Amino acid sequence: MLASAKEMLQKAKAGHYAVGQFNINNLEWTKAILLTAEEMKSPVILGVSEGAGKYMCGFNTVVAMVKGMIETLGITVPVAVHLDHGTYEGAYKCIEAGFSSVMFDGSHYPIEENVAKTKELVEVCNKLGLSLEAEVGAIGGEEDGVVGGGEVADPDECKMIADLGVTMLAAGIGNIHGKYPENWAGLRFDTLEAINNKVGDMPLVLHGGTGIPAEMIKKAIDLGVSKINVNTECQLAFAEATRKYIEEGKDLQGKGFDPRKLLAPGVEAIKETVREKITLFGSANKA
Ligand SMILES: [Zn+2]
Repeated sequence: MLASAKEMLQKAKAGHYAVGQFNINNLEWTKAILLTAEEMKSPVILGVSEGAGKYMCGFNTVVAMVKGMIETLGITVPVAVHLDHGTYEGAYKCIEAGFSSVMFDGSHYPIEENVAKTKELVEVCNKLGLSLEAEVGAIGGEEDGVVGGGEVADPDECKMIADLGVTMLAAGIGNIHGKYPENWAGLRFDTLEAINNKVGDMPLVLHGGTGIPAEMIKKAIDLGVSKINVNTECQLAFAEATRKYIEEGKDLQGKGFDPRKLLAPGVEAIKETVREKITLFGSANKA
């Protein structure tokens, strides 16, 4: 049974911690994240971009895989399967496929259109008991091929979208996807505080969690961030561990070429990354 992100995030906001959204790419990723969340007794959100959904042979395949793993691995912590940066059409496809949570990223539409489409999706999701994330102010860096400039959201627009009844709100506060550049100015805490004051209990979402210093993460959580998205960091950890295995020639020793052996160091690296994040976000033992 998949969980909506609503309850886990409302508890997180009230308890001053954040739940991690870890994006998945395949079976190994999913298994590593689920096992680590269970080990740490932390609620978890599995993020699926439209590109990753396509790669994994469709949203229905993703839902079946996650449900199968929850049962077979005996996962007891709340698990949400969440569409990351969904288009309007993608949101409906995921709802149909059985996702428990969707993000509709209408940040590139004029605010009136973002409001209209978000409002419609709020009704659909509420009826089905699904959580819905909306975005105001495009987040910088690359989102599935779309490069944004790292806008800073307008707190009044955030309030407008929050009042539509979404479950959680992503707002651009100088954060970007992927690696941060050397000259990055840091998170705009003034904006975050202004947004948080306007939206009250609404859980806020921080995208682009890779490479934000731990102190900034902690401050962001203090200022109302209850969901933090991590994607690139797991990819980098997986790639580095896999590279090491091959560079050390381990794939050439015995049955080292067996994919279950070849992918194992990468899986362990993802687990370690997820463990570190859950500890930093404070969601361990909150399931
Ligand atoms: Zn994002």
